[in-house]
Amino acid sequence: TAEVPLADRTNMAFAGTIAIAGQGRGLVTAIGEDTETGKISKLMAQQVSLTTPLARKLERFSWQLLYVILSLAALILAIGLGQGKPLSETFQTAVALAVSGIPEELPSLVTIALAIGVSRMAARHAIIRKLPAVETLGNATVICSDKTGTLTENQMTVERIYAGGQDYAVSGTGYGLEGKIRYQAQPVDLEKAPALRNCLICGLLCNDSALTVEAGQVKVEGDPTEGALIVAARKAGMEAEYWEKAQLRMDIIPFESEQRYMATLHKGEQAERTVYVKGATEAILRRCRSIQGDPGDPAAVDIAAIEKMADDFAQGGLRVLAFAKKQVAAQTETLEPEAIESGLVFLGLQGMIDPPRQEAIRSVRICQAAGIQVKMVTGDHVETASAIAQMMHLNQLVDQQAAAPVLSGQMIAQMDDEALQNAVESSAVFARVAPEQKLRLIEALQANGHVVAMTGDGVNDAPALKQADIGIAMGMAGTEVAQEAADIVLTDDNFASIEAAVEEGRTVYLNLKKAIAFVLPVNGGESLTILASVLLGTALPILPLQILWLNMVSSSALSIPLAFEPQPQGVMQSPPRPPNQPLLSGSILWRIGLISLFNWAVTFGIFEGVVSRTGEVALARTMAVQTLVAAEIFYLLCISRFIPTLVARVKQQRQPLVYAPAIGIACVLLLQILFSQLPLLNRLFSTVPLSWEQGLVCLGAGLPVILIEWILKRQKPLQ
Ligand code: ADP
Ligand code: MG
Repeated sequence: TAEVPLADRTNMAFAGTIAIAGQGRGLVTAIGEDTETGKISKLMAQQVSLTTPLARKLERFSWQLLYVILSLAALILAIGLGQGKPLSETFQTAVALAVSGIPEELPSLVTIALAIGVSRMAARHAIIRKLPAVETLGNATVICSDKTGTLTENQMTVERIYAGGQDYAVSGTGYGLEGKIRYQAQPVDLEKAPALRNCLICGLLCNDSALTVEAGQVKVEGDPTEGALIVAARKAGMEAEYWEKAQLRMDIIPFESEQRYMATLHKGEQAERTVYVKGATEAILRRCRSIQGDPGDPAAVDIAAIEKMADDFAQGGLRVLAFAKKQVAAQTETLEPEAIESGLVFLGLQGMIDPPRQEAIRSVRICQAAGIQVKMVTGDHVETASAIAQMMHLNQLVDQQAAAPVLSGQMIAQMDDEALQNAVESSAVFARVAPEQKLRLIEALQANGHVVAMTGDGVNDAPALKQADIGIAMGMAGTEVAQEAADIVLTDDNFASIEAAVEEGRTVYLNLKKAIAFVLPVNGGESLTILASVLLGTALPILPLQILWLNMVSSSALSIPLAFEPQPQGVMQSPPRPPNQPLLSGSILWRIGLISLFNWAVTFGIFEGVVSRTGEVALARTMAVQTLVAAEIFYLLCISRFIPTLVARVKQQRQPLVYAPAIGIACVLLLQILFSQLPLLNRLFSTVPLSWEQGLVCLGAGLPVILIEWILKRQKPLQ
């Protein structure tokens, strides 16, 4: 086959192919990276781009900065040459200006901040597959979440059964096997309740899951919905093992969210064939011809009565499954969907509770406070969905007067795009939604200007996960296809983890902004110093190599701790930032300008002061550099959370200490001492050793930055 072109290999099945029907046998010829898909993913892995919208904004900013600086440098060169200064000197000045203006430490800062975000999110059960998601998460405006398992516990327990016209109550909690089925508080006798018995048998046989006992705890292997059915039957003394032997399974139509039913074909002791079907009430009822009555004969189906009962179950927040069976010809070996299109005998309903996760309720509230709408998108019954939504206060942000707080899949199907666009705003619950309708929902929300996060687990959810600004797949219940399409995978399938990731996303952005507000004034101060020296015709106060040291060594060591800053208080109490908001706006620009001016004033001031007093240029330069670093250190102490957390510690308020800035400062102090005291570095950077007094002068000169920060903080604190 090696010679046959790839597209013509018609007798091969390729990795990643999904068989939706039929059976087949094949020989594995390649695995892993050697498969065709493997080759593609290897190619893709080689060119993962690490850019995010923020990184692109920064890049654009850097280019603009570069043009400004280069033109300034050219100007300086022209002025210097015009004044008849030697070429080497003016050239050095031009280079100094270029080096001073460019924030060389910025790219590494961005990468580090994003990487820290990724690792913090991973610690909170959200694994980032695509780096831009870190940032996009921070400005999500809508989160569309699954119900079952994400907002709820996915710990199903059957509470009510309706069979043979009677409403049974089932006791017990979770998957515990203790509990009884009672009718009007009396234990039931299964012999006298054939409909109930058949309903439970159907739940056992039309079932792909199993119970396991681990350390005395009953666990479900497979679908929790199905696990609950096995537990319910056990409470009536019926064992899955016995019935699976008595009624051998011949064929199956597996459950799918589109069809909302599952069916199995069984061969009984007398070789008779029975089909058992279970699924959503609507899906089952429209296929039924009769009801298994109590006692005995099938009566005509009273659909209205059953629907009323199902609604009653659902209004209590119960997830409802309907059960039915059908006798088919004795030779039947396979099961086709057509065979159960009609003529089923209705057996009963089972309603199970799936309580909301407590932590999810809390997270929903946090999201709402943060201006993020939480919407439930589920395949479950309208009434069940709205009952759970009520328990979780999902409707809070939505106008209570709105005509349709709950939209059903049917209603969505009848709306055109414009109507849907209006409707999505006022609805918090979307029920009986088919996977492909998720895509329409996202598009409608995006057309309204929302940044949408959407969860999904099935294969059919993949397009929606791709379309969403943030696709979130389930790590435990999710399919591989969904995970491949997603930006984020939740390892615990929990809504609370989405909220945590949003928190971290916002923190990353704020920290980065803080770090930029810290770094740029250093460059600003340096550039102003050089410019001033050109305009005033003095010697260069800082040499190009010294500037490089300042930017790459001192500033880096002092700014990286800002990327580690913990979540600021109130990060989830402000509305999401508009996606096209510029990186540096009003108050930050003002702050950068003011601190730059201060940095310039002290650096240039110290240099001029020392030169005029001693005439030693090398000493003046060394002290100018040390003063700038001192100002940086004090500024860092002002804006980082180190001192506030330290104070809280001393006051015995148990806050974790933010120690990264302290480490950064300790490193920088050591490096700066070496910078001026180590002979090797003296030679490299043209510095001279300082005395104690001179060192203290530098430190003291940097101190007043605290005053400026105090003024700035009163206008608008840097978060
Ligand atoms: P969700 O995950 O959003 O709760 P599903 O698509 O899993 O929604 O379920 C939709 C409906 O399909 C449920 O209300 C239930 O009636 C039915 N259903 C769910 N799981 C099964 C199953 N394993 N077998 C048969 N029917 C099921
Ligand atoms: Mg489901």
